[in-house]
Order: sequence, then structure tokens, then C-alpha cells
Amino acid sequence: CGIVGYIGRQKASTIILEGLKRLEYRGYDSAGIAIQNDGRFDLAKKAGRVEGLIKATPAQKLAGTTGIGHTRWATHGGVTDANAHPHISSDQKIALIHNGVIENYASIKKFLVTKGYTFQSETDTEVLCNLIAYHYQKEPATSEGSRFLESVRKTLRHVQGTYGIAVMCGDCPAEIVAARKGSPLILGVGDGEYMLASDVSAIISRTQNVVYLKDGEVVHLTAKSFSISTLDAEDVSPVIDKITWNI
Ligand code: GLU
Repeated sequence: CGIVGYIGRQKASTIILEGLKRLEYRGYDSAGIAIQNDGRFDLAKKAGRVEGLIKATPAQKLAGTTGIGHTRWATHGGVTDANAHPHISSDQKIALIHNGVIENYASIKKFLVTKGYTFQSETDTEVLCNLIAYHYQKEPATSEGSRFLESVRKTLRHVQGTYGIAVMCGDCPAEIVAARKGSPLILGVGDGEYMLASDVSAIISRTQNVVYLKDGEVVHLTAKSFSISTLDAEDVSPVIDKITWNI
């Protein structure tokens, strides 16, 4: 339902929770956030409102400068804390949020179970983070960043359905990979920082410069740069639009 991501120099959780609140008008049933912390993820997620998530989460727990947050509109699996996003792969390497529906999740899940991956939720989404983790482990050890990016692309080439996703990898503490197909995703280009959101209203208070990602595009963010490519690893030249209206 709602996606917000942040990478930069500020405390990511403050900006992400603020962004999630700006998306509240779209309606949702659960909210959650994951922040990079030295190769691990600080995770908080809960059925109910963003306000409830904030009250239940000690602020000092979410101190990092890279993170992703989500508000969920359940399609697969009930409205429970465990089904709320972000989801983390069973090897703890990958954290992910997702809007949309993965149609072939049952066959992917079967395959992953034979490979030893385990599942904590009833969602279609959880297959994505475990399949990325699977490809990440198999990918030849080039740089960790490009290995992470390629494992997301490989996963999405196997997926049928719709998605807007934002993904983090424990080995890449200052990187986010995001992609879309049939679900909106916008990149905000700020001053020494980047934001991701499913709706421009979550970004506009920090920057007016945005890239409207297209179906089949993947964006790779570090704190200092971004690049866009297709699922087949072809480079895409970004078009930065300026938002000139106020909301
Ligand atoms: N299909 C996913 C779920 O049920 C994502 C739903 C959404 O777009 O919020 O968890």
C-alpha cells in the first residue's frame, strides 16, 4: 500500500515515519520499519496505525541513516504483526517491503523450502526476500553492491504479478535497491540524500526533484549516488522532474 525509503545523513526513522503518516489518507491495516544497523536490521512492525507503531518503538532503537518503511493493505494473509512488512529473509541478510501481489508465490515458496529457507508469515511478499537471499548467496563474489543489485534483478525476472519494492542487504549498510512493475514508485533526489515513495506526498517536504520510475526499472541508491537500470541490466538515463505545485 505505502512505501517510504530514506538514505542520507539524517536519522532515517524520523523521516520515514513522517512520510508514512503523510500516506495515511490512502488507508492501510499495518505499519512497519527496518533500519540498517551495522550489518543487522532494527525492525519494528505492527498491525494498526503508524501512531501505534511509534508508541511501541523506543526511538533510540532506530538510530541509523538508511531505512525502509511500509503501510500494508493485506491481500495474502491476515492482519497480524507477523504479516506486516518489512520482511526479513530467514538467513537475516535481506529486508524488504512490497506493494502489490506476487501471483506465482506458491511455487517459489515450494522451491525455497527445498533449499532450506523458512517462512514467518502467510504473505506472498516473503518469497521475494528469501529468493533475493538465495540468489545473493549464489551470485559470484564481485563487489557486494553489484552482487546485491544483480540478485534483486534475477529474482524479479522470475516473478509474475505486480510490485513496488524497496530492499536492503546486511552486507551493504548504505545501499537500497528498489524496483517497480504495475505499482507506483518515485525517487526523490535531495541534498545529500535520497528518498523513495509510492506517492509524491511522502517526499515533497524534503525535495521537489523527483524521478518517476517506469515499469521494469530498478534503482540502486547509495548515500552519494543513484543509477537506474532494467531487469536485464541495461542502463537507463534518468529524467529528473521538478514538482512545481504545492500540497
Ligand atoms: N500482497 C502483500 C501483502 O498482502 C502487499 C500488500 C500491499 O500492497 O500492501 O502483504
